Amino acid sequence: MTLPEQDMEQQREQMVSRQIEQRGLRDPAVLAAMRAVPREAFVSESHRQFAYDDGPLPIAEGQTISQPYVVALMVEMLHLKPQDRVLEIGTGSGYAAAVLSRIVAEVHTVERIEQLVDFARQNLSGLDYENVQVHHGDGSLGWPDQAPYDGIIVAAGGPKIPAALKKQLVIGGRLVMPVGSEQRAQRLVRLTRVEENEYDRENLSHVRFVPLIGQQAWEKENRKWLDFF
Ligand code: SAH
Repeated sequence: MTLPEQDMEQQREQMVSRQIEQRGLRDPAVLAAMRAVPREAFVSESHRQFAYDDGPLPIAEGQTISQPYVVALMVEMLHLKPQDRVLEIGTGSGYAAAVLSRIVAEVHTVERIEQLVDFARQNLSGLDYENVQVHHGDGSLGWPDQAPYDGIIVAAGGPKIPAALKKQLVIGGRLVMPVGSEQRAQRLVRLTRVEENEYDRENLSHVRFVPLIGQQAWEKENRKWLDFF
């Protein structure tokens, strides 16, 4: 192992203990996955030195790779089991999909920006994560071809939970999504499908995600936020 690799492993271990365990996350499968996936493989060369910082990082097209703690938190909120099949909306770099792939049997992830679909596929193929499929499309409509899913994780914020996504959950399945009436300020919401037409909703912590743009989401990006962040 070369020195920089060893250094990255050390940083990753510190990231998991300081940013994730010390903030109270405990699911052993989630912690093991966060320890296994090299976040530096999902950011551009120039951001590699910041790969284990406690925040989001820019990727292409004005999008971001989420803060490690937020990825771990959302995944823990899904209460996943090894045999589960999961849908992620908003592939971005492919990092969260990679984390999920270490926990469940099958991951489908949908991204609307083609350049990021290619970026994520490339990042994932370098690591041989074969149980992840990256799809190009409007994830506000879900990915009906492979539905239903045991868990759905939405990595971009919308004004409400898209009806299409609710319908693609198994009974007993969970969905986690940032929801808010502003494009860059949301609360994490967990929805559990308890019966065919009955859902339990819990509003959890405040978060800031890039907007979910699509037919059952925001129509377009509000440019004022681009100057703000
Ligand atoms: N999970 C990612 C971070 C995603 S950032 C990671 O680990 O790197 C949110 C992503 O959602 C962006 O890449 C954005 O392009 C995408 N997105 C926004 N609206 C979408 C939609 N309707 N369907 C699919 N992807 C969408």
